[in-house]
Amino acid sequence: MTKIAFIGLGNMGSGMCANLCKAGHEVRAFDLNADAVKVAESNGAQAAATIAEAVSDADVIVSMLPAGKHVLSVYFGEDGVAAHATPGALFLDCSTIAVEDAREAASKAEAAGFLMADAPVSGGTAAADAGTLTFMVGGPVEAFAKAKPILDAMGKNIFHAGASGNGQVAKIANNMLLGISMIGTCEAFNLAEKLGLDAQTFYDISSTASGQCWSMTSYCPAPGPVPTAPSNRDYQPGFAVAMMLKDLHLAAGAAKTAGAQVTLGEMAEKIYADLDARGHGGLDFSGVMKDLKRELG
Ligand code: NAD
Repeated sequence: MTKIAFIGLGNMGSGMCANLCKAGHEVRAFDLNADAVKVAESNGAQAAATIAEAVSDADVIVSMLPAGKHVLSVYFGEDGVAAHATPGALFLDCSTIAVEDAREAASKAEAAGFLMADAPVSGGTAAADAGTLTFMVGGPVEAFAKAKPILDAMGKNIFHAGASGNGQVAKIANNMLLGISMIGTCEAFNLAEKLGLDAQTFYDISSTASGQCWSMTSYCPAPGPVPTAPSNRDYQPGFAVAMMLKDLHLAAGAAKTAGAQVTLGEMAEKIYADLDARGHGGLDFSGVMKDLKRELG
């Protein structure tokens, strides 16, 4: 049993916190939203009214926050985690944030005498609730070793991706590829259909040929071939356009800093930004298919 502080009890954090409680850890939960703390309490956590109260004697601080600015202020702002945690505690940030922000947080933590790992996740709220997330962890070996048993209670695949920030690198590079492959899959199904080939027949052929990819076989954007895919429920998420756009912004920003050419990544970013600007941020990201069929305003 480990004493854990959990900060950020939103769509993802709520289930993750509940799974830590279920695994027998002693969890103190904090969020700016009092209702979210109440839900955590009903799932077995102790409510904390401030960050200080949550972290004061915790061995591990887990966070699941919207973006880098929240992570930096929660950990290193006035009355933040670093000001109240016990020296040597592990800071385990599971949010998806910029690589630069993750590396800045890790070096600030180290300077203040704490271990820190970035551990962004793959898998949405269903995986968070079920405890089947994939974690991509960046940070020193010692931090990973300490984080692993905690992450095991919330996920099923835990990877050490290397030094600080590398968890975020894995996450944004993977999701950039996902965005690109989803758009390509939508275009291929739409083209086939326009030329007279139905979705199921195209799927049967392409899913065993060289066009096969996860976007097709696990998440087919054309209704029919993969019954669990959001395309069969009018593209209700799943993984929303706005979420994909966030990850593509992070990828494009990081690519600029690193001098890496990401032509298709930038095109994918533009396509999802356009959908979002037209009011479709809540649609599943495979809803590009609906747009190609001119079914969206
Ligand atoms: P969310 O907005 O539902 O939850 C964020 C929570 O953080 C909220 O409850 C909010 O009140 C709290 N919060 C914000 N600032 C705070 C502060 N200063 N102190 C304490 N609490 C604060 O977001 P989410 O969907 O749970 O996503 C969290 C992270 O996980 C994001 O970085 C997101 O990109 C990533 N992620 C989300 C999904 C998904 O499907 N939702 C999937 C993978 C990764």
